[in-house]
Formats: sequence, structure tokens, C-alpha cells
Amino acid sequence: MRSISGIWRRSIQARVVTSTIVLSTLVIGLTGWALLRDVASGLADSRRVAAISEARSGFDYAQTQLDAAVETEPATQSQTLTQMVDSLTSSRGAKRTYELVLEGPLSSTDGQVPVRSSAAITPDSLPDDLAKAVKAKPGTYWRYSDLSLLGGSGRDASVVVGSQLRAPGTGDTYALFYLFSMADQQATLDLVRRALLLGGFAMVLMVGGVAWLVSRQVLDPIRMARRIAERYAGGNLEQRMHVSGEDDIARLSTSFNQMAASLQTQIRRLENLSRLQQRFVSDVSHELRTPLTTVQMASAVLYDARDKFDPQTSRSTELLKGELDRFEELLSDLLDLSRFDAGAAKLELDAIDLTQIARDAADDALLSRKGIKVTVIGVETPAVVEADIRRIDRIVRNLLTNAAKYSGSDRVEIEVAQSPECVSLAVRDFGVGLSGDENLRVFDRFWRADPARTQGGTGLGLAIAREDAALHGGTLTAWGRPGEGAEFILTIPKPEGSSKVPAIVSVYA
Ligand code: ADP
Repeated sequence: MRSISGIWRRSIQARVVTSTIVLSTLVIGLTGWALLRDVASGLADSRRVAAISEARSGFDYAQTQLDAAVETEPATQSQTLTQMVDSLTSSRGAKRTYELVLEGPLSSTDGQVPVRSSAAITPDSLPDDLAKAVKAKPGTYWRYSDLSLLGGSGRDASVVVGSQLRAPGTGDTYALFYLFSMADQQATLDLVRRALLLGGFAMVLMVGGVAWLVSRQVLDPIRMARRIAERYAGGNLEQRMHVSGEDDIARLSTSFNQMAASLQTQIRRLENLSRLQQRFVSDVSHELRTPLTTVQMASAVLYDARDKFDPQTSRSTELLKGELDRFEELLSDLLDLSRFDAGAAKLELDAIDLTQIARDAADDALLSRKGIKVTVIGVETPAVVEADIRRIDRIVRNLLTNAAKYSGSDRVEIEVAQSPECVSLAVRDFGVGLSGDENLRVFDRFWRADPARTQGGTGLGLAIAREDAALHGGTLTAWGRPGEGAEFILTIPKPEGSSKVPAIVSVYA
């Protein structure tokens, strides 16, 4: 049942074909029903007209016979009447299409009206209201009824025509009924019904088939467009739709192809631009390195001799040295990032224990210099991953340096945790923290929060750390709240682990 409703929801073709079949069944059924009704009433009408005219001539003949018989021999009236019924039934053609019933004399005193009939007809074959009408007044009356014979199996539709006969001598009245079977008309009607049913069924099948064919013609190109759109989404922009003819579908395909071509051109342009940019950054950084080294060396000489200068020159020398150090740091960060962008960053993998990294990081000189208390948690069991020790070390040092430089916290927690799939290392401080927007932006290149807190950083440290984590197939996420501190969680998958679900769930999560 669920699969049927699934097909109904997903397949336009199934919906088109089903609704066409249902609607055409309805229309064909209604038309067939109306047609059958017309044919049935036409057949019944013509049979009734013929029956009434045949019965009228029969009544006239019977009346003439009765007139003659009663005049001559009233005593043998009963016998004459029986003979009349016999002669009426046998007189018309070889195959009789009617039965006769003669009731009377209607004024019979013993309450029991004698009945003569051409066959053993069941009493309910004669409609009561017709019998009453005939007995009440002279005239010809008719009704449709069902004719059945005693001992016979079925009931035939029939038309019953009745009239009064009057015996002139005695003044007795008789009721004569003709019961015409409509079995032939019924057979014709059955034939028409069967033909209509068969024709209707074939028609519904044909309409369903046509709907299937037409919907396929329209849907095939749409399905192809969907498949190609999926390939575009997967990054394969080379695919094109096949265009044939000049109809709407062909125009859709052409527009689709134009869209893909324009997308491809734009993407190529952007790719080239980005490649150029990367090259530019990398080239500039490289080119600046040599003069910077020379300037650095000259500044070192000046810096070493600063005691011999007057105080103003000496201060300038210190400032020069500080800014040149920052410049060198920026250049090396830029070169690192351009290597990531160019996909040239390589990993030198070793089995490393993150608990060891955490323990070593706790002895960080900057932290002790600033008097920050470091607590290491979860380092009892080794947490080994395949990683590039230089890069992991750089990430952890960066997080600790940031905590020391920006958070203003007097304590830092380093926590290592592991799951069967991965190992996480979190650095948590209890300082200024990060606001909702900052949580997302800390990893942006050149982004620095409040410039008052920046203390001369490049704003590239966390961007590089995240690239380093991604290079290991891991993640680096940040959580924080203003005034409550910040937590940075590095997660590295274990060699056999496929999932990157962090082993540490942030306290802010
Ligand atoms: P940088 O390389 O200059 O140190 P980062 O990319 O490491 O820059 O950090 C970007 C910015 O994020 C910093 O300028 C600082 O404002 C903010 N930040 C980083 N770590 C913390 C932290 N632990 N607490 C508060 N702010 C932080």
C-alpha cells in the first residue's frame, strides 16, 4: 500500500495514466448507460406499438366470434369461448409470440370468475391494476409485466394488452388479455449491452495506452533534464541535452544547454581568477621574502646596537624589529595558506599520541610567563592518531597562544577524549569569550575581533589551523559565550574510524 502511494507521489506518468483511465471510464460508462437506456426504451416502444395493434385486431376478431356464437347458441357459450381462445392462439403464424387469458363472464354469481388461458400462466403475470382497469371500463389498456409459465424456470419481460368483450345475447362481459413476450427484444438488448461493455473496455484500455504514450513523450525529455541537472549539481558541467526539432521541448533543451554553457564559462572564469589570485599571493610572498631577509638582518644589527643610539632612535629600532617580525609572520602565514589553496600542502603522517601533545603544551612558556594556570584532563590513556606532528603541534600552540593573548583568562583547561572513531583535543579558557557572530567568524581569514584585543596578530592563525585539521580529515570548531570563555575543539579521526563525530561535546553545545 505504501509503495503504491509512493509511486503515486513520485510518478507524474502514473498519475496522468490513472486519472485518464478513471475519467474515461466514467465518461464511457455514462455514455454507454444513456445509449443502452435509449435502445431499451426504443425496443420496448416498438414492441408495445406492434403488440397493441396486433391485440386490437385480435379483440375485434374475438368480438365478432362472440357476437356470432352467442346469437346462435347461448348454451354452448363456454365451449365456444374455449374454441375462440384456441383459434386465436393458433391462428397467427407458426411460432406464437403471445399467450392469451380470457376471464369471464365477469358477472359470475358464485364469486369465482372462470379463466381460460392458452398456457399455464402464473397469476402474477397479469398486473392487477390492468385487470381492474379492463374490468371497470370498455377500452384497450396495456402494461409492461413479467411473463412466467407455471413449471417454467425464467421470467420474460412482456407487454400485456387487455380489453373487454361483450356477449350481446346474455349481456355478459369478458376480459381478454394478450401477453406478448419481449424475449427477442431482451436478447437484442443483451447483445447491445455486451457489445457496449466490450467496446467500452477496449476504449478505456486504448485511452490509457494513449495517455501513457503521450505522457512519456513529454516526460522523457524532462527526466533527461533532471538527470543532467543532477550531474551539473555533481560538478559535471560537460553534459548537454540532446536537441531535436523545434518544439517546446527542443526549446527547453536549448535553454538548458545555454544555461549550462554560461554556468561553465562563469565557473571557469572564477576558477581562473582565483588561480590568478592564489598565484599572485604566493608570488608576492616569495618575492618579498628575499628583501625581507636582508631588511631583517639589517634591523637585527641595528637592534643589537640600540644601546649606543639616542633614546628616540633606540625606540624606533625596537619598533622596526617588532613590525618586521610581524611582517615575516604574515608572509609565512600567507605562503602556508597559498599552499593549502593550491592543494600543495602535504602531510607527513606518524602515529602520535594527543595526550603527549597536551602534556607538552601545558608547559608552554607564554602561558607560564603570563601566570596562566593550565589543567590537563583525560591524559591517562594514550589517544593515538595518524597525523603530522608538526601541524598538530602548530594547531595546539595557536589555540593556547590565542587563549593567552586574547581571552584574558587566568586559567586554561586542555582536555583529551576519544571515541572508537576519533580523538578530540579541546582548549578551554574562562576569559572574554566569543559572541554568537564571533563563533562563526573566528576562522575567517584576516578576521580579528575587537582591535583592542588583537595585540598585533595577523588574523590568519585560526584559518590555517582549520585548514590543517581539514587536511587530516578532521574538524576544528569553536564555542563561546561573552564573559564565560571560549572552547576550541580539534577532532582527528582514528586511522580505522570513518566518522568525525567529536569525542568531546562542548560545554556550550
Ligand atoms: P591571529 O593569527 O592574529 O592570532 P587568529 O586567527 O588566531 O588570529 O584569531 C582571530 C581572532 O579571534 C583574534 O584576533 C581574536 O580576536 C579572536 N580569538 C581567538 N581566540 C580567542 C579566544 N580564546 N578568546 C577570545 N578571542 C579569541
